[in-house]
Amino acid sequence: MFHKSRTLALTGIIAQVTEWRMHETGTEACAGGCRGDSRRGGGRRWAKTLATWGMGVVGAGVVLAGVRAVAFRGPYRPPAPLPSEPIIDLHCHAAGLGAGGSGCFVADRLRSNWRFKPFLAAYDVTEAELEREGDGLLIRRLAEGVAASKSVRAAVVLAMDGVMNDRGELDREQTEMYVPNEFVARETARCTNLWFGASIHPGRRDALERLDWAAAHGAVLVKWIPSIMRFDPAEERWVPFYERLVFHGLPLLTHTGDERAFTGAVDAYGDPERLELALRLGVTVIAAHAAAQGENAGEPNLARLRRLMARHPNLYADISALTQVNRMGQLGAALEAGECAGRLVYGTDYPLIHTPLMSPWFFLMRLRVAECARLAAIANPWDQDVGLKQALGVSPDVFQRAGELLARRRLRPNGVRDPMKPYCLSGPSLPRLANVESSKAGGGGTAGTQLDLLTPYSTSRGL
Ligand SMILES: [Zn+2]
Repeated sequence: MFHKSRTLALTGIIAQVTEWRMHETGTEACAGGCRGDSRRGGGRRWAKTLATWGMGVVGAGVVLAGVRAVAFRGPYRPPAPLPSEPIIDLHCHAAGLGAGGSGCFVADRLRSNWRFKPFLAAYDVTEAELEREGDGLLIRRLAEGVAASKSVRAAVVLAMDGVMNDRGELDREQTEMYVPNEFVARETARCTNLWFGASIHPGRRDALERLDWAAAHGAVLVKWIPSIMRFDPAEERWVPFYERLVFHGLPLLTHTGDERAFTGAVDAYGDPERLELALRLGVTVIAAHAAAQGENAGEPNLARLRRLMARHPNLYADISALTQVNRMGQLGAALEAGECAGRLVYGTDYPLIHTPLMSPWFFLMRLRVAECARLAAIANPWDQDVGLKQALGVSPDVFQRAGELLARRRLRPNGVRDPMKPYCLSGPSLPRLANVESSKAGGGGTAGTQLDLLTPYSTSRGL
């Protein structure tokens, strides 16, 4: 099942290129209404096209084998066994079209963008299925994928807040993709292997109230993409938000480095140095993608992150997306950065690991051919991602760090830290929302926890 979407996307690309080639050569089979030709002439052109492709593939293979013979360098670090502790994927995206009253939306400009179809296919859902069954289907497919993984036990599913107008309300015109907290909280509460990652723009007029709501509804972290949500994390006016994150013990997972998954971004807001204020206030910050792409003030973002890591022990960095074809070498750079040692965290950036952007075959200069083939044959995207990163030298502590970080937040009512069993979920049919309400009413199994401290947040406001 999991190879299907990647194959579909690749087939689409090849079909498009082949059609272009046929169009160029005037072949009958071209569907674009190009010049007709005799069957014999068409056949010859077909043969010529195939021969050109064949020679191209063989030529590329010979060149690659020659380059590989001289440039093979082996894994970034010696591979080590996986940890005995369960692995948590800290960085997993949700999406939705608004079907089933989810409140999600994708802007027309992103929906018509070439990126959108492979993105949706990577979740193993189609637009028609979502329209029919509701956006919750996408989360259920995600839960099935994690459940089928032999190496990853649970994943943090991220909501996605949007751009705010100057009244602190969602600006739907400027927002390309919106995934509300309510949707992610509700759907992840139904799955024992998915955790709720909230997303709150600090410029929302009710940002603090929303943060309290998210904490009460089982959020394990808050996710930002400042370059897409269009705000500067360094602004002093976010101090109350940062202080509230500290109060709730919620880590901030925030995109660092350039952003290329959307149609536009303000990359200056992805500068890791913009996080200094949050770090000084004691927020646990996780720099998504280890600032591995782009530069600010004429300096690579990774260099800026390294300097910050040396100064702030509460700064971590996730290794999600660092094996993508457009980020070659970035995993190695993060693993080899001395300042990052002991503070790298495993994450996937799902669904991007399940698209043609990611393949073990991109690492022929680092891994043996047989190893690439073994990894490419792994159907489950999480297992393939873990296997690839392990083979490239990601150490066991990186794989188990998300569980440790989130365990600080996931206190059970009796004070026992149990990262694998959310404190207010004893089974798939017992959603957290019901527990929160019962605790507010003075009853229920969560009474006595920090939930009692929190202000209720009305979903009818500000959306
Ligand atoms: Zn991401």
